[in-house]
Amino acid sequence: MKIAVLKENGAETRVAAIPETVKKFAALGATVAVEQGAGANASLPDADFEAAGATIGSRADVIKDADIILAVTGPEPGSLQGAKKGALLVGALDPAKRREDIEAYANTGLEALAMEWMPRITRAQSMDILSSQSNLAGYKAVVDAASLYGRAFPMMMTAAGTVHPAKAFVMGVGVAGLQAIATARRLGAQVSATDVRSATKEQIQSLGAKPIFVEGVAGIEGEGKGGYASETSAEYQAAQAELVSGHIAKQDIVITTALIPGRPAPRLISDAQLATMRPGSVIVDLAAEAGGNVEGCVAGETVERHGVKIIGAVQLSRTLAADASALFARNLANFLTAFWDKEQGAPVLPDDDEIVAAIRLTKGGAVVSERLKTAQ
Ligand code: NAD
Repeated sequence: MKIAVLKENGAETRVAAIPETVKKFAALGATVAVEQGAGANASLPDADFEAAGATIGSRADVIKDADIILAVTGPEPGSLQGAKKGALLVGALDPAKRREDIEAYANTGLEALAMEWMPRITRAQSMDILSSQSNLAGYKAVVDAASLYGRAFPMMMTAAGTVHPAKAFVMGVGVAGLQAIATARRLGAQVSATDVRSATKEQIQSLGAKPIFVEGVAGIEGEGKGGYASETSAEYQAAQAELVSGHIAKQDIVITTALIPGRPAPRLISDAQLATMRPGSVIVDLAAEAGGNVEGCVAGETVERHGVKIIGAVQLSRTLAADASALFARNLANFLTAFWDKEQGAPVLPDDDEIVAAIRLTKGGAVVSERLKTAQ
């Protein structure tokens, strides 16, 4: 069983394996071939992979006769010629936006597995790349906000007078939001937070932050399938907008993370609400790529509106390449290990397994994912 680890292209800084996971695969009886320079942007020199037992080579070398190909983002299909028929391609393949490439993987005979479609079940927690990367993004959002904010986060009593603590507001308390709350608290800010799922209220309090929730309006429970949010009623949205208007004018830092699977990100902050904020305030919109929670947010850019800086954050985990790679690589190793059949010395992926059914895109030369086939 030969496992190939690809070097990523473009803006991607992460790598899909680390020396620790190379050793894990070796212990399962596999050989690992790492593309030259694959870990360079994540502070992992080729020599570290070699010391863990991997061989280093060109893309063509590592792909040749590979049974499993590990990547962070979906590789260009033409670059995968030479892999065995039926080889697994495992990574964040972005199937909804890369339909043609997924079909090309099928035509090449690859079995493509989209790790971002991992179901939210307890068994899959250690394989969940969205959680591991969102956690880091939540942390980095606060650090980026702090570096752009022209004031300090903690209260400081000095001989020259008092520095008042920053007020930070986190909108959307999923994995990223919880880490943003914890990070802002560690830096000394006064933190409040909101979500549509009432289950998050206790989580907010347990982190020492203040919950800001719409009360007494029908349709407030926004808990949807699999722990994700669903869309709220018009009445709820109006009540939420009013609540946010009253609160946001007093905030210095806002981190927005609200996402609804398969839909554009909900609009949580309007231009009129931005105008009520203090100049110098900073907003980090972690939903920028999904259309943004903040009016006027531009994905990948920092813009200023009414004196408020809005960071349109994109893939923040890439800016923490070493940690992000380590967590991502462990997610992939945990997945393959869980399905590894010791006798066959290979992973076995049963069609009726909930995880396999959710993440498998192609098999036997065809697109087999129901989700992908029915997507618009
Ligand atoms: P997400 O990235 O889909 O969304 C971020 C947050 O935005 C969510 O908390 C959502 O409720 C909130 N949101 C949506 N619309 C909103 C609105 N209009 N106003 C305010 N907030 C809004 O969420 P996530 O980080 O992926 O996590 C969602 C849940 O799934 C969490 O409870 C998490 O613990 C759980 N989870 C479970 C597993 C597992 O069991 N394997 C893995 C990951 C996450």
